[in-house]
Parts: sequence; structure tokens; C-alpha cells
Amino acid sequence: MIYTIKEIEEAYNTGNPIITDFEYDKLQVVKEADSLKSMSALFEYHKLQEFLLKNFKSDFIIEPKIDGISLLLKYSQGKLIFAQTKGNNITVQKEIFNSVLNIENIPKTIDFYDDLIVRGELTIDKNFYLEYLQTQFSSPRSCVCSSIYSKDLSFIKERKIQFIAFYFNTKSFDSSAESKEFFQQMFAVTPNLSKEKHPEQLLDELINYNFFCDGIVFKLDSEKERNIMGETDSDNRWEIAFKRSIPALTAKVIDIHLNATLTGKQSPIATITPIVFDNQSNIKISHVSLNNIKTILSKKIGIGSEIIVELKSLAIPILKQVVIEKEFIPPNNCASCHSLLNNEWVCENYFCNAKISLNLEFIFKKLKFRNFGIKNAKLFSSHCKDVIDLLNLTSEKINHILTPKKAQDFYEQLKIIKKTITSKNILSCYLGRIPMLTMKHLNKLEKFSFFELKHMTEKELISHIGKISGTNLYNLLYNTDIKEYE
Ligand SMILES: [Zn+2]
Repeated sequence: MIYTIKEIEEAYNTGNPIITDFEYDKLQVVKEADSLKSMSALFEYHKLQEFLLKNFKSDFIIEPKIDGISLLLKYSQGKLIFAQTKGNNITVQKEIFNSVLNIENIPKTIDFYDDLIVRGELTIDKNFYLEYLQTQFSSPRSCVCSSIYSKDLSFIKERKIQFIAFYFNTKSFDSSAESKEFFQQMFAVTPNLSKEKHPEQLLDELINYNFFCDGIVFKLDSEKERNIMGETDSDNRWEIAFKRSIPALTAKVIDIHLNATLTGKQSPIATITPIVFDNQSNIKISHVSLNNIKTILSKKIGIGSEIIVELKSLAIPILKQVVIEKEFIPPNNCASCHSLLNNEWVCENYFCNAKISLNLEFIFKKLKFRNFGIKNAKLFSSHCKDVIDLLNLTSEKINHILTPKKAQDFYEQLKIIKKTITSKNILSCYLGRIPMLTMKHLNKLEKFSFFELKHMTEKELISHIGKISGTNLYNLLYNTDIKEYE
């Protein structure tokens, strides 16, 4: 099951008052350390048959593939001690433990005393969602997401968030079917589907379950066999999903809105007549990203255009085709700071508010500030324009920008960061803002302190990292006041 930051942002950005207290900034995004694999999917029956014949030589089980948010639970000596939500190649770690304690069908203590890891999906009562919540969220998954990350824990109960387990890792059982049978006294577990029925029929019958599913999964039953089959870089060889492909849908463009990005490019987003991808997961789409201005000009997408929209994995809608062309008049000015765009429709204003906020958000990530994201970046944007300004912030100034509690948190983190920061860390904060500057260049400059870099001539910098990036970096360093920080 795949769960992306995009979806969290989407949930956050729906602007629905119910989720405004969603603690967006508290999300800490880290690269996943261990290997929770994504799952390969097949869409044609004959390919599934081939796969099973070739790979599944021992007993297997079939389960519905629940469309929710992956959750891992750890129990020790019968007590729930840890909970974590996981995604494809990102992990969202948060103090979700409190949320998990509020999910009614997750037992806090169990009658089983070996160490136990339980994997499953957080999902929502389907009928309840369709009747009461559908209008508020773009998909059941984003509803689950905003409920479990909300400060207000009452949403979890109110919205009937539930956990369905599909895997129990313990030495006590070798067979998945056996462990599921044992643990179903304590947990809601995914049902095992009949192997007598045709997989297409199983897909048809998914509609009868009271949770959202987007396919069925074939898994080898024995733990030993699973280990023998092993895994590739991206997926486990011992499991495969079988799904219906989602047909593309037609929509009309109602409006085109532009956003300035970190590099100053103007990124167009189309508001479209709402469409619902009814692949059992009920994903409602009303916005499609159109890439950049060049794309919409060459494809002739304007207000009134009819476009065909396709749903990619991760539930991200993309433009597939343009059916009715319309004219689009490109803007002259930046959507954020209104300064004149260059002939590639890029905002060149270094102090563009959108660019500064996005850059500060990027800097928070680069310097590993915990609990600070775009919302706070916007607060800082009128007080500092780059990483040096940020490092030079005094506690008085921080107190002026943030609430006392937040300010204290920020200042404590800043103190630690300032003690350990390297010139490479500082320069990496400019990646994305300085044309042609890459990590490769930064690696070459690693051996110098920021102070030494600051005093290099343009020629010296060019000798290390080449003409364009050398000149760009020189201009930056020359224009940056770092005296106070050093
Ligand atoms: Zn601008």
C-alpha cells in the first residue's frame, strides 16, 4: 500500500475546517530505513496465470487488497509498545501512538507473550464514508490520513477508523493462514478468499466488503517459502496484486491557476469538473497539474478545454490527452510577487515571496529542523531570505516570529545546528536556487570552510566547479553577509 506526502499535503490543503488542526508541520519525513516493499500489480488474467504457474509452486493464500494506510504494530510481553505508519519509499514518523491507542479495534494488550509484529491497514467503514464523509475528502485514504494525524483524537472514533491486520510476524507459526486464524480472536484480519473462484469473480465480489479494496493479493502461505523466494529492490517476489485497470475519464477545464515554484517557474494547475475514479476506492479529483506553461501552450489547453485524465499509482491524476483545444494566454507577471517574467515564464526576482518561503521550507529539511515546515516557512519569509539569515536569527527575533513554545523549540534546534553545520550543509541549502549547482559541485567544495569559500576569487571557484556554477556561486557568496555568523 502506498502512502505519500503528497496525499498528506492534499488532505491538508483541502481547506476543510475539519482538518485545519492537522499537524502538518509535525510530520517528519525520513527515508525509509528498512525494506517495506511496494507490491507489483498485474491487470490481465493471463499474466496473473503465468506468474502463478512460474512462481507459486507451494501453497498460497488470496486476500483482498485493502486501500488504506499501512500500519505496523509491535507488541512485547502482551503489550502494545510501538506503532508506525509506513509508505512506499518514505516513512512518515510521528507520535501516532496516541492516535493508535484511540482506534477501537486495536487491542492495547493481548493474550500472547512472544514478541509480535502486526502489519495491516488503517481503513474506514465504507458505508459510513459514502454516506457522511465523501463530500469532505478526495478519497477514503485521505480521510483516514487526516483523521489519524489530527490533534483532535475524537475524529478517529467519529469517523469509524479501523485496523485490519494481514500479517503476524512471530516465531510461533510458520504458515500465514495459521497465524491469521490464531490472531483473529484478537484482531480484525483480512479474510482469506476462495481459491475455487475465478480471480475476476473475486474482484467483482470485493464490492461486498465494508472496507475499500483496490484489488486482490496472492501470497505464498509459508514463511519459509517466502524467505526462499526473497525480494527484489522494489517488491517481494512472494506476493502479487491483481487489479482492475482504472479507465481514464474526461473532464472540462473550468479554471487554470498558476503557482510560483522554488526555481521561479510558474506551475499551472487546472480546476476541472469533478470526476470520481470508481475503482472501488472512490477517488474524487477536481485538480490536475499541467506541468508548465510550455506544456499548456503546445497542447492548447485553456479554460473550456476538454481533457482526458488518468489516475497514476499513488492516486495522482495526470493529463492523458486533450480532446477540445482552447487558447491559453500566458501571464506576464509572477503569480506570487507580480514581477515581470522572463521569456521562459520564469520569475527572476530573487526575493519573490513564493521562492523564499519554498526555499526556507527546503532549508528546514536540509538542516533537519524537526517540526518546521511550509506553514512556518511562510512566517519566516518576511524576516529572512536565506540560510545565512536563518542562522543569524537572534532569540528576540525568533520570539517575535513564533509563539513562545514554538520559538523555544526553534531556538534550541538552531543552537545545535549551528554547532555542527558545515560549509557543505550551508551550500546545499542553495541547491535549487543557484542555476547549475549540484551535489557533485558541493562535494568538490567540501574541504573548504564557508569562510574560505567566501574569500575565494571568482577564478578560484571556477577552477573548482566550472564556469557557470562557479560564477553563480561567486555572485551568491559575494552578496551574502556571513560575518556575524562566522
Ligand atoms: Zn515571483
